[in-house]
Amino acid sequence: MSKYEQASRLQGVHYDVRGKNMVEAQRMEAEGQRVLHLNIGNLASFGFAPPETMVRTFITHLHESDGYSDARGIYSARTAVANYYQTRGLNVDVPQVLIGNGVSELISMILQAMTNIGDEILIPAPDYPLWTAQTVLSGGHPVHYLCDESNGWQPDIEDIKSKITRRTKAIVVINPNNPTGAVYSRELLQQIADIARENELVVLADEIYEKILYSGEHLNMAGLTGSDVLCFTFSGLSKAYRACGWRAGWLVSTGPLDDATDLFEGLQLLANMRMCANVPAQHAIQTALGGYQSIDDMVKPGGRFHDQLQVAHKLLNDIPGISCEPARGALYLFPHLNAEMFDIEDDEEWALGLLRRKKILISHGRGFNWPHPDHFRLVALPEESVLREAVGRIAEYCEETRVI
Ligand code: PLP
Repeated sequence: MSKYEQASRLQGVHYDVRGKNMVEAQRMEAEGQRVLHLNIGNLASFGFAPPETMVRTFITHLHESDGYSDARGIYSARTAVANYYQTRGLNVDVPQVLIGNGVSELISMILQAMTNIGDEILIPAPDYPLWTAQTVLSGGHPVHYLCDESNGWQPDIEDIKSKITRRTKAIVVINPNNPTGAVYSRELLQQIADIARENELVVLADEIYEKILYSGEHLNMAGLTGSDVLCFTFSGLSKAYRACGWRAGWLVSTGPLDDATDLFEGLQLLANMRMCANVPAQHAIQTALGGYQSIDDMVKPGGRFHDQLQVAHKLLNDIPGISCEPARGALYLFPHLNAEMFDIEDDEEWALGLLRRKKILISHGRGFNWPHPDHFRLVALPEESVLREAVGRIAEYCEETRVI
C-alpha cells in the first residue's frame, strides 16, 4: 500500500457528473476530437450571461473587495437575501442569512456541522449527487427515498415514511428538482413538512432553481415548515442569475432557532475557518435580488430555456426505447431508457459508448443515485439547432445498439 493513497473517508464518495466519462471526454478533446458536453448545467458555456447590472456591480466593487469580509457575508448581501424572503411572506432577518461560495459550499458546511457518524439523512432518488456525496463525507448515512416517475417524479410519501428510523436526522428536498425537472405541489410539501414535524427532522430545502419555472408556482419549503421545524433553505446566483463561476449562494435558517444555538455556533466556526465567500460576487447579490432581473424571457414560450427543453423533450420521446417526463422547472431532462432493448447492465458504460461513438457527453442515471441502470440526464442548455443534432446522434446510437 502506498502512503499516497487517498484517505479512507473518501470511500463511497461519488460525484459522477464529473466522473470517469468526463475524463475520457477530456482525453478525446486533447486528441483534437470535438465533444458536446451535455453533462453540466454550466450556463456560461452555452452563451448565457449574468444580467449586465450584476456585472457592473461586480466590477464597481472590485477595488473594495481586496480584503476578507465578515465570514457570514457582507451586510448588504445578507439584507438583500432577508428582504427577498420577507417579500415572500417568510419571517427572515439578517442574522438568519449565511453567504457562501455557492450552494455547494453551504451544503458541505451544514452537513459537516450537523451530522454525527451514522446519522441518517433522507435524500431523494434521483438526487443532485452532491447531497449524497457530502453526507457520506460527513460520516452520515444517505438513505434514498424514491421519486415516482409515473407520478411526475413527485416524492413517494409512503416510501419516505417507511425509511424513517430513530437515526434519521434530516430530509433533503430539491425543488424544482435536478435532475427530474419536477416542481412539487403544496399538498406534497405540506406532507413532507408534517413528517419532519412529527419526527423532529431538520429540513434541507435546495431551491436553487426556484425561479426557473415553466408551469405552476414554486412554494418555499420554509413557508410550510413554519416556526416549529428547523429548515435550511439554499439558493444562489448560479442558475437563475447565470453566474455559476462567481461562486455566490446563501443559506437561510428558519424555525425554532433558539433551540439550535449550538448548531449555529458550529456553522459559524466552519464559516470562520474558510474566512469568507468571494467578496465581489457578494456585492452582486443585492443587485440580483433588488432589481428587475427577470428571467421571464427565458422561461416563457419563445425563451431559450423553455423552447430548448420542449424540443429536446419531444425529440427524445420520438426515439424508440426512450420515454421522458416533461420538465416543469430547472434545466434538465431525465429520460427513461428501455434497458432490455439496449441490453444495458451498466448505464455508465452505455454513456461511455455514446461518448466514444457519437461525441456526446451525458450523465448516466445511477450517477444521481437512481437505483437502476435505465436513465440518463440531459442538460438542455445548447441552442436548439445543437440540441437537435445532439438528440439526433443519441437516436442513432440507440438504433445502432438496440438488441430487440
Ligand atoms: N443544488 C442543485 C440542485 C444544483 O443543481 C447545483 C448545481 O448544479 C447546486 C446545488 C450547486 O450550486 P452552486 O453553483 O451554487 O454551488
